[in-house]
Parts: sequence; structure tokens; C-alpha cells
Amino acid sequence: MFPATRTELAGVSLREIARRFGTPTYVYDAAVIERKIDDLKMFDVVRFAQKACSNIAILDLMRRKGVLVDAVSAGEIHRALAAGFQPHAAGDTHPIVYTADIFDRDALAMVLKHDIHVNCGSPDMLEQYGSRKPGANVTLRINPGFGHGHSQKTNTGGEQSKHGIWHEQLDDCLRIADRHGLSVTGLHLHIGSGTDLEHLSQVCGAMEKLAGDVGRTLTTISAGGGLPTIYKAGDTYVDTSVYFSLWDASRKRLEQKFGHKLTLEIEPGRYLVAESGYLVAEIRAIKQMGKNTFYLLDAGFNNLARPILYGSHHPMSIVPGPLDMADASVDATSPRPEVEAVVGGPLCESGDIFTQAEGGFVTTRKLPTAQVGELLVLECAGAYGFAMGSNYNSKPLAAEVLLRNGQAHLIRARQTPEDLTRGEVIPSA
Ligand SMILES: *Cc1c(COP(=O)(O)O)cnc(C)c1O
Repeated sequence: MFPATRTELAGVSLREIARRFGTPTYVYDAAVIERKIDDLKMFDVVRFAQKACSNIAILDLMRRKGVLVDAVSAGEIHRALAAGFQPHAAGDTHPIVYTADIFDRDALAMVLKHDIHVNCGSPDMLEQYGSRKPGANVTLRINPGFGHGHSQKTNTGGEQSKHGIWHEQLDDCLRIADRHGLSVTGLHLHIGSGTDLEHLSQVCGAMEKLAGDVGRTLTTISAGGGLPTIYKAGDTYVDTSVYFSLWDASRKRLEQKFGHKLTLEIEPGRYLVAESGYLVAEIRAIKQMGKNTFYLLDAGFNNLARPILYGSHHPMSIVPGPLDMADASVDATSPRPEVEAVVGGPLCESGDIFTQAEGGFVTTRKLPTAQVGELLVLECAGAYGFAMGSNYNSKPLAAEVLLRNGQAHLIRARQTPEDLTRGEVIPSA
């Protein structure tokens, strides 16, 4: 499933991409995103949690495929509008929903200005919104008291989580809503990333109970995100049809109870984009440190932070042939001996290692032997990859490229040195 060497992606030469756009560069395969969207078409609404990968070209692709969008900040609302999403539509479906546990002042101003639907994750947020927009429709995000995550840091339910309205405070929130004439039309549960099916029936049960408490104003229920994806050989996909049927059964029972239709939304981030994305980097040094072989790349945790944050595993492949070598003289086919390598980046920080387990333990990866000047591709990097990038060590943010119909399109230029100091000021003496 994950090849050890690659020469191309979606029909485009990787060496060509690196020569044209430089490295490190994020590359996304549009066809993979489109296929993932199609996987979920049984849901009434697929709402992309754009924080996973928020380039406006990706948002535009989503919009053209009928996907709606979630925004967690004023900046993400700005991105959604820039990508052509309407702030609000006729009826109950909202092209953009603002979901958060707080309003910062910018976000509150932005939702009011554009009349963006709001999903409230705290009683304070509901109060602040209700006092400024009495009579509006709102969604409530509830923490049902339990959660699930691929790591403690992605578990978004339970007492340890800051997310959502605590389930025992739903009644208080309904009173706040009443006081401002707000109508609670949506209920949302996002309890973590990496949900499994066994756990899901518990979530659906919680939704039915909470929806019963809210009552007949409800028109939409949202299953949140958290659909897992694969990161290594042996990982398995959840059966999306089983996932859907559990939610659909809950929806139908609620429709029966309320006597009207309910829209069923799903809100994936990772699932739609993770497998579409590749971080293309160049091997710039190979060092032997005692018994360990280090491959050092021009990409680090400033470009892909998941390994250092969560000990996440990303598949890796080597692109045969140093970039400087003419394509005709590259031998891309003869098998290479394998090596156990530690793969790291350029940052002045010992944690800048892509092969690490949760807790920061350095591990190795079996890779084809490679040379300095060859490319190494970090795969399944489309979700929380570029989006979590930083300027640490004054590294420019990487370029982003979209592959569509055999063509490579630059969708974000690499930052320049001037970008790095933009806005900085030396005060006059
Ligand atoms: C992050 C997030 C998601 C997406 O989570 P994934 O694990 O990427 O699917 C969905 N909804 C909300 C509110 C989120 O914050």
C-alpha cells in the first residue's frame, strides 16, 4: 500500500515538482480528496473541518464537490469567504458554521457582520451571542461526559476536555437560549479523533438522549469529526456504511419522536485530506552517529509537527536519483538494500525527529538506502500537516501544490525572507 520508492504522484514527476517549486513542498492529490468526499455522500451534509488543511484552493475544491465548511476562528471564516462559500443560505443548511468554545472579539464581530451560524461550546459563548443576536438559531456542542482520541491530546470528551457544554448544563443553556429568544436548531457531538465503531453506539445513544432534552426545535444533528484514517500498513478503515447506519438509525428514531425531518451532518477533517497530502523534502545530509544512521531533511517539525506532538507515524518513501542528476541517467528500478534510519529535520532542537514514538522516544524506519540530494516523501500528511506549520528557526512556510488532471498547480508560494520579518519594527531611539 505504501511503496518504498516513488517517482511520481498522480502522473506528475516528483523530481519535476521539486525542481519547479523547491523543497520542502506540500503536494495534494485532488482525486484522492474527491474520492474521500464520495465515500461520505450518504450523509445529508459533509462539513469539512478546515483546520486540518485550510488552503483556499482546497476549500474551493470542497465547495465545488458540495461540501460545506466549519470554521473555528475569524481567520477560518475569512478563508471560507475567500474560497467562495456564502455566509448563509436559505433554509436550515449553513454553508459556514463557526464552532468554538469561546468567541474572541474578532470572531464575534465576524459572525455578526456576516450572519454566520454559530455552534456554541460554552454557556458564556451562548450568552454573548444571544445578547447581541436575540432570536437567532444556534447549535449547541455538548460534551457528553466521555470521549475518545488517538492520543490524549485529541480526546475531546470527558471531564479532562475543555470542549463543548458539559452535558449536565444543557438545561441551563436552554434557559439562556430562552431568555434571548434563541432557537436551538442544531446539536453537535465531536468527542475526539480516532473514534471506533464500538464507541460510536455510545455516542449515538448520548445524542438521542440530549436531543430529546432539547426537543422539537431541532432540525440538524451533527456527528462531528474524528473519522479515522490510515497511517501505516495494517491500519484499517472504519466501515463508513456501518458508521452511517448507526447515526441514521438514531436520526430516524428522533424524527419519529419529533414528527419532522432531521438533517444528519458529519464533520470530518482528517478523513477527507490526510491521504491526499505528501510532504516532499530533500535529504541534505546522512550521518552515522554510533550505530544509528541519520537521514537529515530540509523539512522539520516546523513543516510537519504530528510526530513531535503525538509520536505520529507517517509512511516514507525515497525518490530515486539526486535532483541534480539528469532524469535519463537515473536508475529508478534496481532494488536497493534497506537501512534502518533515523529521519530528522534541520531545526536546532533535538526533538526534530520524524521517527519518534509518543513520549519522544527516537525510533528507526526501514528505508531503501538513499543518497544526499535524493528526495524523501512523508506521506499521509495532508491533515494537520501544513496547517500546523510554523516559522520556528525562521524557516519560511513551505509551498503547497495541488495535482489535478495530471497538472501541478502552485496553490501557495513558499514564504520569502521578507515575509519572515513583515510587521516587525525596531523602535526608534
Ligand atoms: C478538529 C475538529 C473536527 C475534525 O476532526 P478530525 O479528527 O480531523 O476529523 C471536527 N469538528 C470539530 C469541531 C473540530 O474541532
